[in-house]
Amino acid sequence: MSKIKVENLSKHYGEVTALEDVSFEIPSGEFVVILGESGAGKSTLLRCLNGLATPSSGTVSIGGSKVTNHRTDVGMIFQQHNIIGQMSAYQNALTGALPRTTLLRSLLQWNDRQDKIAALEALDTVGLLEEANQKVKQMSGGQQQRVGIARALVQEPNLLLADEPVASLDPASAESVMGYIKDAAAEHDLTTLASLHQVNLAREFGERFLGMKNGYLVFDGTRDDLTVDVIDEIYGDIQTDSIRETTSESQGTDDLKSDSVPNGNAEVAE
Ligand code: ADP
Ligand code: MG
Repeated sequence: MSKIKVENLSKHYGEVTALEDVSFEIPSGEFVVILGESGAGKSTLLRCLNGLATPSSGTVSIGGSKVTNHRTDVGMIFQQHNIIGQMSAYQNALTGALPRTTLLRSLLQWNDRQDKIAALEALDTVGLLEEANQKVKQMSGGQQQRVGIARALVQEPNLLLADEPVASLDPASAESVMGYIKDAAAEHDLTTLASLHQVNLAREFGERFLGMKNGYLVFDGTRDDLTVDVIDEIYGDIQTDSIRETTSESQGTDDLKSDSVPNGNAEVAE
């Protein structure tokens, strides 16, 4: 687990501003959800955190050391599962150990006993131990993403990043996969940042929220601070009309309580 510090982070692609003067700190072990519509800068922020993108200005540090290039101690779960369909769940999970495996050993498929155990433990964490030998292409989207989580865990990360990890899943699978990510993070005491565009899921799983809009950080707060007005600011009024109607009917208040969020209605299309 690691503390994250982002200071005055900006990232420009030519004329395009992907991030502008973003600053925040995340204490070790916190589970943070990044909200924002498509193009808001969520992926760029995550890429700056794992060193895949270089800031135009500002700094990112993890556990006190500045991020300067790609970090293998940062586990990443992607929207497109980035797993290999021809390989088994176990073999895919084991690829998480590649950064610490020599080329020769990986070509010969010689893995340390410890890595093999780590792969099986990670599959157990995501409820797929029984399916370890199943080819991933035969699995459901939700199971495939759980293999992606297992692979990230085998990396033995200090920080877990997830970029829209459930965007391609149906609502039930999305909820289940988010549950596995949260449990895995808790089990490994991992600081976690996940971007999501489904507000209802975000509220169910997030402890703290960062709201992005046009590259700016427009919100940083807890679930109680994440009112309908704040969501309006992040996404625009249209997306929250249905929530507002439901909450004012049932509670006569603008406050967004988790049990009053209609499933799916709060979803913001990418
Ligand atoms: P999000 O993940 O919230 O959808 P992104 O971080 O992908 O947002 O993008 C933020 C902005 O930066 C968008 O306007 C996007 O078009 C632009 N952008 C992102 N990556 C690149 C890139 N590699 N080259 C040019 N523009 C980019
Ligand atoms: Mg993105």
